[in-house]
Amino acid sequence: MLSGAPYGYRYIRRQLDGTPAHYVIELPQAATVKAMFQWVGLERLSIGEVVRRLAEAGTETASGKPFWDRSVVWGILRNPAYMGRAAFGKTQVRDHLHVRVRAQRHSADVPRKPYSTIRADPQQWIEIPVPAIISEALFHTVQGQLAENRKRARQRRDNAPLRLLQGLTVCGQCRYAYYAKKVSKAAAKGHQRDYAYYRCVGTDAYRFGGERICDNLQVRTDKLDDLVWQQVVELLRQPDRLRGEYERRLDVLERNEKNGFDTTSLDKQRLQLEKGGSSGKSVG
Ligand SMILES: [Zn+2]
Repeated sequence: MLSGAPYGYRYIRRQLDGTPAHYVIELPQAATVKAMFQWVGLERLSIGEVVRRLAEAGTETASGKPFWDRSVVWGILRNPAYMGRAAFGKTQVRDHLHVRVRAQRHSADVPRKPYSTIRADPQQWIEIPVPAIISEALFHTVQGQLAENRKRARQRRDNAPLRLLQGLTVCGQCRYAYYAKKVSKAAAKGHQRDYAYYRCVGTDAYRFGGERICDNLQVRTDKLDDLVWQQVVELLRQPDRLRGEYERRLDVLERNEKNGFDTTSLDKQRLQLEKGGSSGKSVG
């Protein structure tokens, strides 16, 4: 069973006269699809800029929502159907606009994708011809640009000064990670600021289809770093307490090993911590 036509198309079921099922282009959705490809392929916009432009233009999603999820835009730009290659019915996408209430960062049960898909039985895959909305050349240009955007984002991340606690602090309200965000040019008012802000991922509306899920405050990096540092120093002044805690954790570990407890996720967390942690994952 098909989950519905991709954005930009309408599904026409098999007709009594024998005409097989097919897709037809749905205007003006198709015009929006074409614009998205051109913005990225020709104007070299990022996914975030595409989302902003769609919101400014008041373009609604397939389900009539005024805000586009980045993962939805990403999915459209990656879908070969738009250059006339059909391969539908493989998976059904569910809930891509629903907000996940996430478990603690680094825990093993954090879903990797912002939406879930169910793989349909391959025998039920249905291929249906689809009219092209964009050229193959534009499709491939966009794939190249998306790769370029990813590379640039990685470079930006690598060049940003490391903030000690980014990705290691977790929001007490919504359990998302706090990431470091530098002071904007406007807020800096021409001064050089050597601190940034730790900010809850849940407070960024753009990550959640236009609506923030958390209103916890941001914290200046220098202040939180100081506070945590003071506590570390305080702890180091009391080696007995430190030893006590260390032994307590050893005991827990041993007990878990005896019980055959699976520590893979703990090991993963340890590795993440050793890497220094990174800020909240961003899509696109
Ligand atoms: Zn939060």
